[in-house]
Amino acid sequence: MNYQSTRNHALTAVSTAAVLRGIASDGGLFILKDFSSLNFDWRAALEKDTLGMAEQILSALLPDYPNMGELVRRAYTGKFETEDLTPVVPVGDRYVLELFRGPTSAFKDVALSMLPQLITAARAGEGVEDEIVILTATSGDTGKAALEGFHDVEGTRIIVFFPENGVSSVQKAQMVTQAGKNVCVCGINGNFDDAQTGVKNTFAAVEAGDLLAGKGARLSSANSINIGRLAPQVVYYFKAYADLVKWGKCKVGDPVDFVVPTGNFGDILAGYFAKYMGLPVGRLVCASNANDVLTDFIHTGVYDRNRPFYKTVSPSMDILVSSNLERLLFLMSGCNDAVVAELMAKLKTEGVYRVDDAMVAKLQEEFWGGCCDDAATKETIGKVWKEHGYLCDTHTAVAWNVADQYLKDTDSKNPVVVLSTASAYKFPVAVLSALDVEAKGDEFAIMEQLHEITGVPVPKNLSGLQEKEVLHRDVIEKDEILDYVLRKISQPEWN
Ligand SMILES: *Cc1c(COP(=O)(O)O)cnc(C)c1O
Repeated sequence: MNYQSTRNHALTAVSTAAVLRGIASDGGLFILKDFSSLNFDWRAALEKDTLGMAEQILSALLPDYPNMGELVRRAYTGKFETEDLTPVVPVGDRYVLELFRGPTSAFKDVALSMLPQLITAARAGEGVEDEIVILTATSGDTGKAALEGFHDVEGTRIIVFFPENGVSSVQKAQMVTQAGKNVCVCGINGNFDDAQTGVKNTFAAVEAGDLLAGKGARLSSANSINIGRLAPQVVYYFKAYADLVKWGKCKVGDPVDFVVPTGNFGDILAGYFAKYMGLPVGRLVCASNANDVLTDFIHTGVYDRNRPFYKTVSPSMDILVSSNLERLLFLMSGCNDAVVAELMAKLKTEGVYRVDDAMVAKLQEEFWGGCCDDAATKETIGKVWKEHGYLCDTHTAVAWNVADQYLKDTDSKNPVVVLSTASAYKFPVAVLSALDVEAKGDEFAIMEQLHEITGVPVPKNLSGLQEKEVLHRDVIEKDEILDYVLRKISQPEWN
């Protein structure tokens, strides 16, 4: 029983069960009880190729899977543009870690290619006969990556909820054209936080009322609240570090800083896990857009979601409740479940909590936080293109801009890796306008225009999207999510 709820140490699970359930029964998140007991040689990991690293890291974090190597190969072989999955590209005196070379051109592919393997193997391992229904709230990218991962996977169904008016046309087209007999996509009148809250409440209501008893189905999650989503993301921190060592940019043991465009705090938390596992991570720089709740938290120790919600040009980071922060609080409080339970209760009732001074000090030692608005994001895209000939998307630009702020503030001499989380072609309107070019036509025409101007190839999965047939048209109110889920589960055939 190496996993427990962040809110109650008595709620334990082996890793396969934690992956299968997605979230603990008290609403807490599954977390390793003790990182120091991990059976893991981080120096050995650096010697391996990406798939070898993935096997070693995932076997350590999720020790109840007997055949991890096979699962890793099935998940990744032939699915990404490059064999090393996540290439590192030198840009100026920084390094861009490209996480968007997967089947849907967003970093979520790294984890969501792996998660279906982890869930189906866990289902077999735990002897579960029920169908696993994956509920997913998405700010735009998770939805498509999850659909791509789970469509037509035996023993599973997937329902994706996205903010009807909160994603780009490209993102929406990616989702509503998804084929597969086990997939369902539904817009909600609300923002991402509403979708995420609706999904969490659905889990809680189903658990409390045993609403799926006798229905041959049980729920799981493809959001980064699922530890099976988080674990595969640890791998690319090792991969990037190994590349820098290989290129002579640092020696094994030297600290490297990572700048992470952050929303739900999953990506950056995986970096913190890597650090716990021994990787010499210097600072983890948390980059936010105008929704700067995390920047304030890192600077003051006060997390306050009572603030305006902004729709920005980096929509995958338009989030005020960062779920995975709960896991960080757990680790930073010395694995104190009572403290986490209390803070989460405060967040739920008052929308605000404060951590103690010792935790603030620790937080500031390991993290640095910064934010930038849409104007600065676009300016950064233009600057990086002009100065380096590198085209970055809006989320990556936020990280680049915050890296500027970080270096100015701290004078860090460590190598800096900027995580790049999406292809620029997923957000073509904002990116083209950042290059000071007048846009012509709809988002798909603009994609073409961006290609003509920059010469950067359009990823295969995005070109021709507008000609695909729309297969999903449902739109519901944000408080109808539970009813919708129960209704869909009772239908034997979807598509
Ligand atoms: C999801 C996403 C993020 C934020 O990642 P978190 O793990 O939620 O912090 C950043 N950029 C893009 C493009 C994303 O899709």
